[in-house]
Amino acid sequence: MSLHEIEARLRAAEARAGRAAGSVTLIAVSKLQPPARIEAVLRQGQRVFGENYVQEAAAKWPAWRAAFAGVKLHLIGPLQGNKAKAAVELFDAIHSLDRPSLAERLARLGQARGACPELFVQVNTGREPQKAGVLPADLDRFVADCRGLGLPLSGLMCIPPEAEDATPHFSALAAMAARNGLGGLSMGMSSDFEAAVAAGATHVRVGSAIFGPRA
Ligand SMILES: *Cc1c(COP(=O)(O)O)cnc(C)c1O
Repeated sequence: MSLHEIEARLRAAEARAGRAAGSVTLIAVSKLQPPARIEAVLRQGQRVFGENYVQEAAAKWPAWRAAFAGVKLHLIGPLQGNKAKAAVELFDAIHSLDRPSLAERLARLGQARGACPELFVQVNTGREPQKAGVLPADLDRFVADCRGLGLPLSGLMCIPPEAEDATPHFSALAAMAARNGLGGLSMGMSSDFEAAVAAGATHVRVGSAIFGPRA
């Protein structure tokens, strides 16, 4: 695949779903990719990237940000409390807000800086014990608590169980967002981003289909 093919598939999925062209943000997931592949995609015009690890992103993105105007970085991997300050300084959006202690820390950091990244609450739609995310039953309370802290919530994010059909998870996430008055839906990866768009995704996170296999 290439960036242009993925963009074409995304525009076609938008059209099939009756969504406006360009209404879904393509996050190119560049974690663990060789720098040459990332630079090639930057030269093709892609500006929104996703990374999983704060340290990896902090090591490679400042130079590209200086060289390519308009880069936006989204943290899509789990965030440890002790990396929250670095994350808030580096990222434009964080998709892995998943616990009260992190919400409190982000609220404090946001107040101190006078700005906070866009935030997505990660939901463990499959209730998988090894996976991060707020459990569906706890979500409404968590969203209310985040709002009580003054956090700017943009939406919800999920990573469905690998062995299952993703569509019921996407639909469930869309329903949870709607009932909480949240417009953003970060869902869909290389293998299922078109199904995610059909279910209402506003942000799809596509890595290997754009860049090839990871190191
Ligand atoms: C790595 C990753 C992706 C991209 O996965 P691909 O299958 O390579 O598209 C998307 N979302 C999250 C949370 C990831 O960790």
